[in-house]
Amino acid sequence: EIDGVKLWTTNGVVAELLVVMARVPESPGHRGGVTAFVVEADSPGITVERRNGFMGLRGIENGVTRFHRVRVPKENVIGGEGQGLKIALATLNTGRLSVPACCAGAAKWALSIARQWSAERVQWGRPIAEHEAIAARISFIAATAFALESVVELTSRLADAGGNDIRIEAALAKLWASELAWQVADDLVQIRGGRGYETAESLAARGERAVPAEQLLRDLRINRIFEGSTEIMHLLIAREAVDTHLAVAGDLAEEDADLRAKARAVVGASGFYAGWLPRLLVGAGLNPGSFREFGALAPHLRFVERSARKLARATFYGMARWQARLQRRQGFLGRVVDIGAELFAMAATCVRAAALRGEDEEQGRTAERLADTFCRQSRLRVERLFDALWTNTDDEDRELAGSVLRGDITWLEAGILDPSEGTGPWIARSRSGASTEPNLARRYEL
Ligand SMILES: Cc1cc2nc3c(=O)[nH]c(=O)nc-3n(C[C@H](O)[C@H](O)[C@H](O)COP(=O)(O)OP(=O)(O)OC[C@H]3O[C@@H](n4cnc5c(N)ncnc54)[C@H](O)[C@@H]3O)c2cc1C
Repeated sequence: EIDGVKLWTTNGVVAELLVVMARVPESPGHRGGVTAFVVEADSPGITVERRNGFMGLRGIENGVTRFHRVRVPKENVIGGEGQGLKIALATLNTGRLSVPACCAGAAKWALSIARQWSAERVQWGRPIAEHEAIAARISFIAATAFALESVVELTSRLADAGGNDIRIEAALAKLWASELAWQVADDLVQIRGGRGYETAESLAARGERAVPAEQLLRDLRINRIFEGSTEIMHLLIAREAVDTHLAVAGDLAEEDADLRAKARAVVGASGFYAGWLPRLLVGAGLNPGSFREFGALAPHLRFVERSARKLARATFYGMARWQARLQRRQGFLGRVVDIGAELFAMAATCVRAAALRGEDEEQGRTAERLADTFCRQSRLRVERLFDALWTNTDDEDRELAGSVLRGDITWLEAGILDPSEGTGPWIARSRSGASTEPNLARRYEL
């Protein structure tokens, strides 16, 4: 029997079959633990309590599902008792790749709209594409769309090949794609100006092309939250990245290990690091002839190689400086992971451009330009992130957040109308029939 409530069940409210993760209590003959079950959605005891509404993703169904003494036959257990978490984590890897795939599709569409609209819209006597500020956004969208597709292709190939442990690659792809696609959509809205903020429905009602740029922004926003939020992906990937060090340094990184254990760990670790650290100082990236097969893109791959070693050194310094406290340095870890993601995207992009060149000379040339510009943009981000590893406001931010939470600064919150206060009606109607937030409606007597 399954009992419990699940908040947020994408398409669960319309599905015929549900995969439910439930905790089985330990008991004689039962090892217990999180277990996966196939459950028929029309089983007695299942009720959909609510259907949730969201900022975007209105094409999916989502709700709150309650299970009250739902009987499930034993043969509906997937993979055995206690295997649920393992199954969830394994399927997450490939499932996670659907996020970058959506992001790549979104960026390709954004590129198409940006190209058409920025040529059509004339301001100050020229198409807006010819104003440098807009050209920069078009370039960012094009370069990022190419990189997003390259990352999707590389990670999907790794997944399709089977037998590869793609945990880090899938997580990096999900993290990076969701962040970059959001910036692409934001740039598209900016290029469209007021029309970017207007709904497709409203545009169509005025006789204009129904371009849903604002919908793209709303739909993409969730990608930074679900399938592992950006913050959680940072921690998950960082943990994988520093795992070797934690294994080698052992008790050194344990907060509560005693001094003798720490001393032993130093002796053990120093042997490893005596071999490892020098290897981080030299590599192919220092050799001007390396990666020659990538032609004009070779310098970017040398940068990737050099930066990967620099990143490993920085991670080591972070370990040495903060030891076990490193895991709470989320600002530092987040930047380390973001640098890794940029390097991954750069490598994927150069490899794809080289492959395209082999297929079609003409397309290969433009692909190389896309990859080159992408790598230059990415390198600037990487350099800023490296600087921010050591020059940042992390300490000040933690202190200020502490002040906010202690209530020292509530005076700054005075003088506003809080739309979440009061008891409804939640949605008021303006004279034109459009919905408005309740407090604003009251204030302006709409
Ligand atoms: C449209 C939609 C569809 C969904 N579909 C499904 C579904 O089908 N199945 C399902 O199981 N779930 C689903 N979810 C749930 C979704 O996976 C979660 O909302 C998501 O994992 C974030 O969890 P949370 O909302 O509890 O955020 P919280 O855990 O409350 O996090 C709030 C904020 O704190 C950050 N945070 C949390 N912990 C840490 C930490 N240790 N360090 C630093 N920062 C931290 C988070 O990143 C976030 O920014 C869906 C959600 C939505 C909105």
